[in-house]
Amino acid sequence: MPVNINAYRTIRSTLDAAKVTLVAVSKTKPIEDILALYNEGQRNFGENYVQELVDKHAVLPADIRWHFIGHLQSNKVKYIAPFVHLIHGVDSESLLKEIEKQALKHQRMIDCLLQVHIATEETKFGFDEQELLNLKIREFGNLKIRGLMGMASFSDDLNLVRNEFKKLSSLFSKCQQTLHLQPSTFNLLSMGMSGDYTIAIEEGSNMVRIGSLLFGERNYNK
Ligand SMILES: *Cc1c(COP(=O)(O)O)cnc(C)c1O
Repeated sequence: MPVNINAYRTIRSTLDAAKVTLVAVSKTKPIEDILALYNEGQRNFGENYVQELVDKHAVLPADIRWHFIGHLQSNKVKYIAPFVHLIHGVDSESLLKEIEKQALKHQRMIDCLLQVHIATEETKFGFDEQELLNLKIREFGNLKIRGLMGMASFSDDLNLVRNEFKKLSSLFSKCQQTLHLQPSTFNLLSMGMSGDYTIAIEEGSNMVRIGSLLFGERNYNK
């Protein structure tokens, strides 16, 4: 399926008006598809797999801001540390420490979001509320925790989805108050995908990760 430029323009203008950042999720999609949106002015792209991200970063324009949105293994942080713009799925203290170590090595600051488990599916990753509030956050020098990320249940029950986003949104406010992070730094709430981003924005999201609405359905068997 080709890139849907009209969908992109419509979604982008709605999100711009609402001051919500669009991360175009390009996993499994070819370079040409990414360039098609790049030529429309899109700069934030999201990828889930380290090798795929590294390969795409090497050949695509340098001003693309690459978001890593997948599940990141500690031993792979080093491959994306030199250039990654924002890591969305940080779900353990050991991963935070490894990112900090690699950021220091490359003498840069790496921005991260803490992933929170809000869905009913056990297979999804993330901290629970108590773990999050217990995190020792000020230890990190070359790493900035910019906010929270979460994925709602994959469900037709829109009330369930809305309640999960509500939960994440209120946890976000709670973190701003209890974790002693500056509101100007801890200000990103990444929630919402193709199927649920309008609900996510109604519940306070300011960053959405949209793939299939822009690029078409993914084919993992290629
Ligand atoms: C693949 C993916 C998306 C995009 O999903 P769509 O339903 O295609 O919009 C968003 N967030 C994460 C974490 C993903 O893995």
